[in-house]
Amino acid sequence: MEQRIMELKKLETMPVEEKERYYNQQLQHVIQYAYQNAPPVKEKLDSAGIAPAQIRTIKDLEMIPVTKKEEIVDLQKKYPPFGGYVTKPMEELQWVHISPGPIYTPIINLEAIIEGAASALGDIGFGKGDIVINTTGYHLVVAGLGLDLALRIMGATVIPSGPGNTELQIEIMRHMKVTGFGGFVRFLLTIMEKAEELGYDFRRDFALRHAVVLGEIGVDFPSIRKRIEEKYGVNLMQLYGTADLGLVALECGQKSGMHLVEGLVAEFVDPLTGKRAQPGEPGELVATILHETYPLIRLATGDLVRWTDEPCPCGRTSPRLMEILGRVGEVTKVKGMFLWIREVEQVVAKFPQISKSQVVLSHDSRGRDVLTLRLELVEESIGTEKLSQDFGAAFQGICRLRLDKVEFVTKGAFPEGYQKLVDERGIRKWE
Ligand SMILES: [Zn+2]
Repeated sequence: MEQRIMELKKLETMPVEEKERYYNQQLQHVIQYAYQNAPPVKEKLDSAGIAPAQIRTIKDLEMIPVTKKEEIVDLQKKYPPFGGYVTKPMEELQWVHISPGPIYTPIINLEAIIEGAASALGDIGFGKGDIVINTTGYHLVVAGLGLDLALRIMGATVIPSGPGNTELQIEIMRHMKVTGFGGFVRFLLTIMEKAEELGYDFRRDFALRHAVVLGEIGVDFPSIRKRIEEKYGVNLMQLYGTADLGLVALECGQKSGMHLVEGLVAEFVDPLTGKRAQPGEPGELVATILHETYPLIRLATGDLVRWTDEPCPCGRTSPRLMEILGRVGEVTKVKGMFLWIREVEQVVAKFPQISKSQVVLSHDSRGRDVLTLRLELVEESIGTEKLSQDFGAAFQGICRLRLDKVEFVTKGAFPEGYQKLVDERGIRKWE
């Protein structure tokens, strides 16, 4: 295993140009192979009029239309169980996990991922002598199992406690003198606060010193991190994964963004233009798995991220995800600022007179952004003039953007499952 970690380290720290050549070569092979053996890849290329030989570099991937999650659901009906992406006999698959849909996903590069995770865990000091409580789920999803194996590679002792049961987790942590935690960051904070409620002094009564955590969309990670690290003295390392891909990125000891794992080619696509997003700009993560067994080409994850390709002092040369901004369709850029639908909903929640809302983005005659909010009232007889002013002020307070228009729609105008964000600015709509 030491040897494997050394090999992986070499790839992780390979100079950017050399790594690009390495992945370009792999890509050419995987595309050819997938075209011959994975029907959905052939269909995708054929429908776009692209021959596999045209895809020579990572940059050329842009020519192939992305594949959305909904397409995978349909493909799995057409070519059960894996949508035609698995090119080898079932016996070659190590694990299959299941995400809502249901979508069946084989995990084929788990070893490389585990080794990557293990080497990063070492960066923050996980190792032999650690007793780690792993509160990530072990069934159906890959997180619990993957993290367990990575911790084992580092020599830690793992308690596979799984999610939930806060008080039991607290008891285990105390009795077993647990030094490490794996799981969602919010759950870690819940445990710490519950322990205090029960009368413990967390720093004195617990041996916890580090944690490998998953953030969640909608959680203000930097502020939770600050609290956990400063108040409770527990060092955090953040991971990011998706149901379809497993582990995608992880922090190194620099705690400055999450490095993409090797073997996964990531593109960042501006959802407004469909073109590559520049570093620092939001982009949807589009992933390609360079693996013969499961050549998933250009999966659009729906996650909007901010990324950088600046060199990292740790020596790893893969790009870093600086921030997971939200789901495409739930965050957008207006007048140069981000607007989150969840923030709009916070504003709406302050007004019991309002039942539903919809953000509409358009351009004025000079091409400037116009931000309109459509509101549905609980009772149509409610006076709208003052409400409109109060709403505008509350909106500016929370969303830090000035509303151009507030429109009131008739009751029932928004059906079940309506779009909360309508972008009429042209180019390409956010979905
Ligand atoms: Zn780094």
